[in-house]
Amino acid sequence: MKKCAFCEDVNNKLTAEHIFPFGLISKFPEYKYAFLGEKKAVKLSPKKQVIKDVCQNCNNGALSKLDSYGNKFIMDYFSRNLSPEQIVTIRYDYQILLKWVMKILFNSLRKNDSSSWLKKNSKYMIGKVEKTTSEVSLFLGTYVDLAPFQNMFPSLPFQGISEPKILLSSRAFHKEILEYRNENIEIIYVLRLCNAIFLLVCWKENRWNSKEEEALNGLIPHTLLTPNNNTGKIARSTDSFNCEHLYLVSSKKAQFEHDIYMKMIVRKK
Ligand SMILES: [Zn+2]
Repeated sequence: MKKCAFCEDVNNKLTAEHIFPFGLISKFPEYKYAFLGEKKAVKLSPKKQVIKDVCQNCNNGALSKLDSYGNKFIMDYFSRNLSPEQIVTIRYDYQILLKWVMKILFNSLRKNDSSSWLKKNSKYMIGKVEKTTSEVSLFLGTYVDLAPFQNMFPSLPFQGISEPKILLSSRAFHKEILEYRNENIEIIYVLRLCNAIFLLVCWKENRWNSKEEEALNGLIPHTLLTPNNNTGKIARSTDSFNCEHLYLVSSKKAQFEHDIYMKMIVRKK
């Protein structure tokens, strides 16, 4: 028998698990596709959008519990359209939210090489081990559609990717674009679910430090969620340049410059 992608047990019957939670996608029948990585699109129909390597214990037990929590979290706070200046005040359970974000990313990306950090941590997602193999920082920002041309790109409210570019300034004002780099980080993942954009920063083993985490928190418009907190104020993480491209993450400065640029364009018209 094949082994389960989460618990790695070979003795249990394998069942079909939805890549993006069925309880969530079924509420948005107007969206037809989800994107796995940057290019691969899958139909969002409940029957197509499944993977068949999850045992029934994990699927109906731990993973189903994460879905009940996560689906409600998204429906409560991030299912309605938000305005650019709107701040969303959330209550959250850090451990459950983190595991849920990790498992959806793992579902989306497990056929890619970039999923190796997630694969190492599949047992954490189902509660079989207590800690992740290395420290993570979980950030959350809102998605607001500020695309200058409507309907140029398909709407992609369900998308998971790895290795985004974090832009330190705007292409509109600087010839050379500096990107955020940190050799202590193993990999970064981005997950969009409706109007929530999660950034999962996975540090290399024993290389996390609070100063660098704090510096990154100051750099990007997203809010750092932590195990010691259960409330947060979430601000917009998109702008006119990156709202259709999940792999482009704007720093606060880049976002500010993109916003100014758009105002200049609009005024010229
Ligand atoms: Zn399992």
